[in-house]
Amino acid sequence: MAAGKFLMVGAGLSGAVIGRQLAEAGHQVQVVDARDHIGGNCHTARDPETGVLLHVYGPHIFHTDDGEVWDYVNRFATFKPYKNRVKTTARGQVFSLPVNLHTINQFFGKTLRPAEARAFIAETQADTTIKDPQSFEEQALRFVGRDLYEAFFKGYTLKQWGVSPRELPASILKRLPLRFSYDDNYFFHKYQGMPEQGYSEMIGGILDHPGISVRLETVFNRAETQDYDHVFYSGPLDGYFDYELGRLGYRTLDFEKFTYDGDYQGCAVMNYGDVDVPYTRITEHKHFAPWESHEKSVCYREYSRSATPQDIPYYPIRQLKEKALLADYVALAERSTGVSFVGRLGTYRYLDMDVTIREALDVAAGFLQQRAAAQAVPAFWTAPL
Ligand code: FAD
Ligand code: UDP
Repeated sequence: MAAGKFLMVGAGLSGAVIGRQLAEAGHQVQVVDARDHIGGNCHTARDPETGVLLHVYGPHIFHTDDGEVWDYVNRFATFKPYKNRVKTTARGQVFSLPVNLHTINQFFGKTLRPAEARAFIAETQADTTIKDPQSFEEQALRFVGRDLYEAFFKGYTLKQWGVSPRELPASILKRLPLRFSYDDNYFFHKYQGMPEQGYSEMIGGILDHPGISVRLETVFNRAETQDYDHVFYSGPLDGYFDYELGRLGYRTLDFEKFTYDGDYQGCAVMNYGDVDVPYTRITEHKHFAPWESHEKSVCYREYSRSATPQDIPYYPIRQLKEKALLADYVALAERSTGVSFVGRLGTYRYLDMDVTIREALDVAAGFLQQRAAAQAVPAFWTAPL
């Protein structure tokens, strides 16, 4: 079959990985991005004043159980071992996260061993009348109980999402482990690490192929669809349709950047659980690259709020209202031809980087198969609802 001509809208992980797979199969790939850099929201860049590698759109730590995805990223970057160890400041003290034996012993002023702590939480804290937790709050009350919930999760979640944890799904809290040991690794995945020179360098490596050409500061225009054999669109789903049915809700983030001489907080991520502290966390970027040494430090105070049309969309909200609108956009997308909606914005889901790469590899493989068999290409490869 003759080589195809394909457009990737977005030079983030989705566009880069799908583009790379299609280019390796002998096709011509054009990548466009509205921004002046590649990398999407994983973008990293050196701070000109301090030389610190900044996670420009918020901290990104790579973690996965998927061996194929781990091999894939290691083809394009040297990964350094990195464990995400997060602290939280609440009620005037610093605690360890995710909730682990240290957190429990410190919080309750005890010296429990693992089995004792498990029994203590189960018998004196957990609300076992909740059989099948649906909301974030129910999930927290069921597994850690009211005291820990109110100190570490209630205020933080209210700041992060702008709604009561009663209105959020239990799945958000399920992202975090609860441990009865002193293991304070924030993630439970087999592979974890940080690309030595940052994510943008890694994504640059993925895009570095003779079949791929990249155009930055280029906003996609829907009329271009007809110039290509197929378009893979990783921009916002509602944006593709010029928001004709209304806007899907997102939370956006504001980063208040400040520099410091020395070590500001002694760790990469310090969360703030109290609701009266207006920011959710402070990230100190040099600690994301502990193999480098920098005298000066760059920190971001992170604030979360509802996104307006001018803001960068970060977290899809996905409450009942948004899900109904999403269903209408999905129906519209399924009637469109020549385009597949991919990635976190194209499918309106929170996707970790490893899941984004997994899906991108699967989309490319599925697409090449459908094309070889001259079969129709779906608008969505993973159900967004
Ligand atoms: P994006 O990175 O959003 O890329 C989409 C690109 O499309 C953007 O560059 C955008 O400019 C471009 N675009 C959009 N519309 C148009 C248009 N009309 N024309 C041209 N270009 C357009 N994952 C982890 O695994 N670990 C973490 O620690 C982690 N931390 C995160 C922290 C935050 C605050 C957030 C929000 C996410 C985090 N993630 C993390 C998830 C990670 O950011 C995503 O997995 C990843 O960015 C998804 O890549 P993508 O290519 O689908 O989307
Ligand atoms: N969370 C919290 N307190 C914390 C950290 C997390 O209440 O100190 C909640 C918050 O609602 C967050 C969710 O747990 O959205 C999942 O945590 P994660 O670290 O995965 O946060 P995200 O990736 O959403 O920033």
